[in-house]
Amino acid sequence: MKKRVSIQGFPVDVISYKSALDFVVSAIDNGENIQIVTINPEMIQCAKKNKDFANVIRHAELVVADGVGIKIALKLKGVNQERIGGVDFSRSLIQMCATANLRLGLLGAKEEVIQTLVSKLKKEHEDINIVFAHNGYFSDENALLADIKAAQPQVLLCALGSPKQEFIIYRLKEMLQGCVMIGVGGSFDVFAGYVKRAPLIWQRLGLEWLYRVIKQPERFKRIFPTLPIFLFKSIIDSVKK
Ligand code: UDP
Repeated sequence: MKKRVSIQGFPVDVISYKSALDFVVSAIDNGENIQIVTINPEMIQCAKKNKDFANVIRHAELVVADGVGIKIALKLKGVNQERIGGVDFSRSLIQMCATANLRLGLLGAKEEVIQTLVSKLKKEHEDINIVFAHNGYFSDENALLADIKAAQPQVLLCALGSPKQEFIIYRLKEMLQGCVMIGVGGSFDVFAGYVKRAPLIWQRLGLEWLYRVIKQPERFKRIFPTLPIFLFKSIIDSVKK
């Protein structure tokens, strides 16, 4: 169903959007804990310098290509992969929870954002079963994790930014039973209406990153020089092949 390829030493699963959702459904049916990483070039550059983060990525059950940089790196290896971004994928997971009455947990973003999101989701999906919702600014991580464990979510969306969200999920994998967990970055800000997503045409052209940089210029530092370096290394790797 999925084939794993290596991009600069890190795994990326070649999988369709639909098969990724099927993978989630079968994990829930089998009561497995899984960690989904939506990988992008910034995360790979970070993992190269941070062994613990690299270890977390390598142990993720599903690593999907988020961002045009990963798509290009895969293309250079002769692999066509559709983008599976955190915003879209978590929207699908929320829909799945509403339809199948799964227990949903939400962790991350500012208090105002998470509150708006919870009321919005309850309005949109009458029967949604949100068993846990907390902002992403906490001091006692152990207490927070114990609360999540007690709530027994089957799907947990973590919107804390990377790598914080991936580390928390990795810890939770040891504590929970039968939970699908995914790090979704700034998705809650988008869902709650605090941040606008790029228009569809920008998304289709693979320029969502540029739109975000224009809207939030402080992101420039995160993308440059990371993205060009990543692409350069990908080209070198493809030539060496
Ligand atoms: N955030 C959080 N706790 C923190 C740091 C960040 O909950 O300690 C939230 C922040 O409010 C935002 C998200 O994490 O909602 C990070 O968004 P960003 O746009 O940086 O993530 P990206 O989508 O780029 O991964």
